[in-house]
Amino acid sequence: MILLMLGAQGTGKGTVAGILSQKTGWPQISTGDIFRKNISEKTELGIEANKYIAAGNLVPDEITVPMVKARLQEADAKEGAILDGFPRTIAQAEKLDEILAESNRKVDLVINLTTPRDEIITRILNRRVCSNQDCKATYNLTMHPSKVEGICDKCGAKLVQREDDSNRESIERRLAIYDEKTKPLVDYYSAKGIVTNQEVSERINRLGKDVAEDVYKMIV
Ligand code: AMP
Repeated sequence: MILLMLGAQGTGKGTVAGILSQKTGWPQISTGDIFRKNISEKTELGIEANKYIAAGNLVPDEITVPMVKARLQEADAKEGAILDGFPRTIAQAEKLDEILAESNRKVDLVINLTTPRDEIITRILNRRVCSNQDCKATYNLTMHPSKVEGICDKCGAKLVQREDDSNRESIERRLAIYDEKTKPLVDYYSAKGIVTNQEVSERINRLGKDVAEDVYKMIV
C-alpha cells in the first residue's frame, strides 16, 4: 500500500509517517531526510540540493524525481511505503503516478494534515532535530522537549535546529511555496477520492500521534 503525507511544513507529517512506518513495517520515504543525509555526507547530490534547500526553494525535479524512483524500487518498499515530502507539485504527482504504474501500483491513501498557520510558525521555530542522520528524531522545545536539554532521548546525539528552520524568511518562503505549488495536490487527490483530512492542533489537543492511531485503524 502506498500512503502519502500532505500538509504544510510543521504540521507533523514526519511524526505521523514515522509512527505509521513503525506500525506497518513500510519505510518512511522522506525526500527532505534523504537530502539532509546527502548534505551531511557532502555527496554531489547533497552539495547541489543544498543550494536550493538553504534558501527555502524546491530542489529541481531532475534531481528529486530519479532519487524517489530509485528509493521506491528498493526491496523494503515492495509491500508498501509512506511518502513524506514528495510529491510537492502537480508535475511531481503525475511523475509519481507513472513511476508507480510501472510496477502496477498506485497511491492508495493521502493523509492531509491541517494546522492553523500561527501554530505552524511557532512549531517550526521550536523544532529541534537529532543531528544523527540515522536517527532523525524530532522534538519541540515546548510541546515535546527532550529529557535532557539539547540531547536526543533515543540515541544521545546532539539536537540541532535545521538551517532552513532558523529564520522566519525561509519559513515564510517555504509556506508560500506550499500554498502555491503543493496545496493544489489536495484537489488532485480528492478528485480520485483517496484523501483523508486530519487536523493537528494544540487547540483541540490533537497531535500527530493521535492522527497516526486513527489512520492506522483505517488501513488495517
Ligand atoms: P522537508 O524536510 O520536507 O521540509 O524538506 C526540506 C527541503 O528539501 C524543502 O524545503 C525543499 O527545499 C527540499 N525538498 C524536499 N522534498 C522535495 C520535493 N519533493 N521537491 C523539491 N524539493 C524538495
